[in-house]
Amino acid sequence: MIEEKIDFLININDEEWGQYAFSRDPLKGKVSEELRKKIIEKASECGKKEAIKIKEKYRDVPIKKILKRIGLEYIEKDSDGTESYIMFACYNSPNKITVFKKNKMLVEEFIKENELSSKLEYIDVESMLLAHELFHHIEENNKNIYTKNEKIVLWKIGKYKYKSGLVCIGEIAAMAFAKELLSINYNPYIFDVLMLYPYDENKAVELYKEIEGFKGGL
Ligand SMILES: [Zn+2]
Repeated sequence: MIEEKIDFLININDEEWGQYAFSRDPLKGKVSEELRKKIIEKASECGKKEAIKIKEKYRDVPIKKILKRIGLEYIEKDSDGTESYIMFACYNSPNKITVFKKNKMLVEEFIKENELSSKLEYIDVESMLLAHELFHHIEENNKNIYTKNEKIVLWKIGKYKYKSGLVCIGEIAAMAFAKELLSINYNPYIFDVLMLYPYDENKAVELYKEIEGFKGGL
């Protein structure tokens, strides 16, 4: 049943979600187990720290107003449904956040229909999406931030090292940011599964089973 699955996902901790995020990164094979743990910890810390800064500065200001004050443009779009990848929101530098209205509404309906609101601590899906994207704006505008500076050595010739960042670092941090900003007790990564449900239950269950494997360490 869906309730049991949600209970299970709520109890997955941040490190386990971090391992899940890594598993989806194209460069995952370049990172040792030890470094992976360190990165997950630091990325989560980074996201949380940035959220605390925003909370201290804006107190109870609703997130849409925060975006306005920061100078971020917020637009809603109807997704055309042709993409193979379901998009919920995205950030475009320098200052635009797009939320795909229809997708967001389908998840909200799904939560309502299945009476998952209280389990999900009455989360506002839109605020969660906006918070996540706000983090990407913050990291884009701070070249000293951890998420933009952790680099992996892909190969080296003599003294020359070719390095690259990892996509999952910013994602882990953005989720930690949203979690802290919205003051919820579970990792918003559970929306990876939740958002799939209204589209394709089989795929959602498949992803759920994959995530089950991350509980309790690898
Ligand atoms: Zn993101």
